[in-house]
Amino acid sequence: MSSNTGATVGALDTAAEIATLIIGIGELTTNTDEYGVLHDAALVVSGDRVQWVGPAAAAPDADHRVDVEGRAVLPGWVDSHTHLVFAGDRTAEFEARMAGRAYSAGGIRTTVDATRAAADEVLAANLRRLRSEALRQGTTYLETKTGYGLTVEDERRCAAIAAEVADEVTFLGAHVVPAGMSADEYVDLVCGDMLEAVADHVGWIDVFCEEGAFDAAQSARVLAAGRARGLGLRVHGNQLGTGEGVRLAVEYGAASVDHCTYLTDDDVEALAASHTVATLLPACDLSTRQPLAPARRLLDAGARIALASNANPGSSYTTSMAYCVTTAVLQMNLSVAEAVRAATLGGARALGIDPDADGAVGVLRPGARADLHILDAPSVTHLAYRPGVPLTWSVWRRGEPVAGTSGSWR
Ligand SMILES: [Zn+2]
Repeated sequence: MSSNTGATVGALDTAAEIATLIIGIGELTTNTDEYGVLHDAALVVSGDRVQWVGPAAAAPDADHRVDVEGRAVLPGWVDSHTHLVFAGDRTAEFEARMAGRAYSAGGIRTTVDATRAAADEVLAANLRRLRSEALRQGTTYLETKTGYGLTVEDERRCAAIAAEVADEVTFLGAHVVPAGMSADEYVDLVCGDMLEAVADHVGWIDVFCEEGAFDAAQSARVLAAGRARGLGLRVHGNQLGTGEGVRLAVEYGAASVDHCTYLTDDDVEALAASHTVATLLPACDLSTRQPLAPARRLLDAGARIALASNANPGSSYTTSMAYCVTTAVLQMNLSVAEAVRAATLGGARALGIDPDADGAVGVLRPGARADLHILDAPSVTHLAYRPGVPLTWSVWRRGEPVAGTSGSWR
């Protein structure tokens, strides 16, 4: 499903022969049954891949050696839900909401107006700024969506800009009905000319199945059209109330249904019996003063969950996956291990990535992509034990240090 290829071919070529041994890992989270959580561990990076993981005492030799002095290493965050192709600002709306006014889907139109008016370079620069902000906080794999253009040309250029920067791109033409059209007329456009215009730039299609956005029948048309065009399926659902989103996502075999703030027992059972990931967006729930999604209930029922930022200018303006993990632990009753797994492996699964595949993200084992998040702390527990403290010490992406402390041990 990767829509962004070729960006790091040069780095791959030059680094392919050089192996780096990372020692002094106080705690290594692998997200695999085979390796589990290792203490006093080591890891070998070769090219853009992890070559070896295991106890420090058994580590092989390598060209370079890096000592992380007891710090915790985990897979980079996989943020499977963002809306980062936009222009404009909604500070005033946020301020009003915090002063007591309710959130409605209509606020999206404010960003649509600003996005349509913005030049490509402005949209691309904003996207790169936020992508970099996320990377510095440990996000090494990022999905982003269109959905603030809502004309054929504006959705096309948003998709093309996203494909330049993000690891995965989703077409969310069906975000909200633009002014001057009926929902059915607009769905015709989304499933026809608009889908055709964006298809080369995207791997996924998404629909906001919610009262005030698109109903179940309209949402089903969007998913069917995307599937016919060879795209993977995602759904925004059950954000503002119980609705048809989860049912539809499961019925269509969507990789993920996102929000899941309001779920019936039937929804939870349907998710547990499916491979559809329930992607929870706690920063959005908090920023809209909604209840937090029922993460504990989903996990206890056997459903797969992911945590994502939903970074967007209206309802969740944060790129911090650590904040989402902290919230999931402190307020959604997940263990730290469960929350970390949901923000790494869970996000990868929500993007249809097989953890056993060559080059997989969200896991650290031989053959996985070498995307490492090194904390300035001895364990991942500190992410919740020390809420709000920036603990990212270093970030490696595709086998190269890309953010944070690198200096002497690079
Ligand atoms: Zn969203």
